[in-house]
Amino acid sequence: MTSTISGFTEIDKPEYADYARCVHCGLCLNHCSTYRLWGNEADSPRGRIRQMQLIDEGQLELGERFVTHIDRCLDCRACETACPSGVEYGKLVEAARAQIERQYKRPLVSRLVRDFVYRRLLPYPSRIAAAARVLRLYQGSGLAAFARGTGILKLLGLRDRERLLPKIDSSFFFGELGKTFPARGARRARVALFAGCVAQVAFSELNRATIRVLQANGCEVVVPAGQVCCGALPAHGGLRDVARDLARTNLAACDAGDFDAIITNAAGCGSTLKEYEHLLGGSDAGHDRARVFASKVRDASEFLAELGLTAPLRPIPLRVTYQDSCHLAHGQRIREAPRKLIRAVPGVELVEMQLADQCCGSAGVYNVTQTKASMELLALKTDCVREAGAQAIVTSNPGCILQLRAGVAIHGMNQEVLHVIELLGRAMSA
Ligand code: SF4
Ligand code: SF4
Repeated sequence: MTSTISGFTEIDKPEYADYARCVHCGLCLNHCSTYRLWGNEADSPRGRIRQMQLIDEGQLELGERFVTHIDRCLDCRACETACPSGVEYGKLVEAARAQIERQYKRPLVSRLVRDFVYRRLLPYPSRIAAAARVLRLYQGSGLAAFARGTGILKLLGLRDRERLLPKIDSSFFFGELGKTFPARGARRARVALFAGCVAQVAFSELNRATIRVLQANGCEVVVPAGQVCCGALPAHGGLRDVARDLARTNLAACDAGDFDAIITNAAGCGSTLKEYEHLLGGSDAGHDRARVFASKVRDASEFLAELGLTAPLRPIPLRVTYQDSCHLAHGQRIREAPRKLIRAVPGVELVEMQLADQCCGSAGVYNVTQTKASMELLALKTDCVREAGAQAIVTSNPGCILQLRAGVAIHGMNQEVLHVIELLGRAMSA
């Protein structure tokens, strides 16, 4: 399916000032997972930026080929880390996706699914809860085991995707919204916890562990009522209008001035929350509030490493490797803080694996929309874990945890996969 429209529309377009910083040096190419997979210039950062430029100049059609190359991008931002010219590729690709969303007519099924997920599901906590209950029924009723056992999933080409489904919690985190959890001992900080969307039905225990770890280190934790999805998934998908509405709701739910920090345990969310100022833009009525809010956002590991751990930690004899979540390492430039926390746990041996900061293939919904490429990247990742000889993989993002757990299962490995905060929580309660 092609579009006959050339050029970008004015709102949310890749800006000349941003893409013109690319000097075509190619130093990013070997840091780009999709270029390394296929060796195709059009699937490299430089090639994608060039295509944006040609469309902006009216020399290339915004059609199927462009959409394919932009869809194949992980938005992992490894190219940003590698780029000596300071090209903010994440900004460019999200703007390109916004243009695609506005101008390009995707196939009907794709349009229906995207509309359902981004516009009708993610913005509504009650619908996320309802969908999660259905999924929990599927997982708990024996239907999942039946579907796997009979080979139906394999026949439908859904076997890998089914493995990526989160295990739905028995007790959702939504019940904790609006509560305040006191600091243990003298209060060192007052923080707000940003609890995520899907995380509230699939990573409730991670959120609870985050609260306990913060409390144990002298933080009063408020879980603001009325918070919703951060908007990362819609923003990465090109639906910036949805992302903006979600940002406005979160800004109304959480007055940043009341807190020393706004904490998230999801690197993908943190990256977007820190960019609310950019998302809302200078002319938006909420821009100033977004600037203050964004300045207070901290990844849980970033905050704790800076605050300093005071809670006693008991030994955990474990050889672990750390997988950098892209939106922490490349999106937020945080690499040392989680490693510092891991090393703080007595008995834990941190072994670095090769390509620790290369995407595991999770990348939001990439593992669902581009499953083949995602699984290839996952296989590379599990090879690196195996070579490192780690007993456990520690990471900083719920999406990476799901992907890595699937990788361990698919490749017949036995490593435990856990969040850095879960490791700390375990050491505190061991
Ligand atoms: S490293 Fe930066 S300047 Fe060089 S080609 Fe890549 S994006 Fe362009
Ligand atoms: S964001 Fe990741 S996949 Fe996309 S061009 Fe940059 S390095 Fe490649």
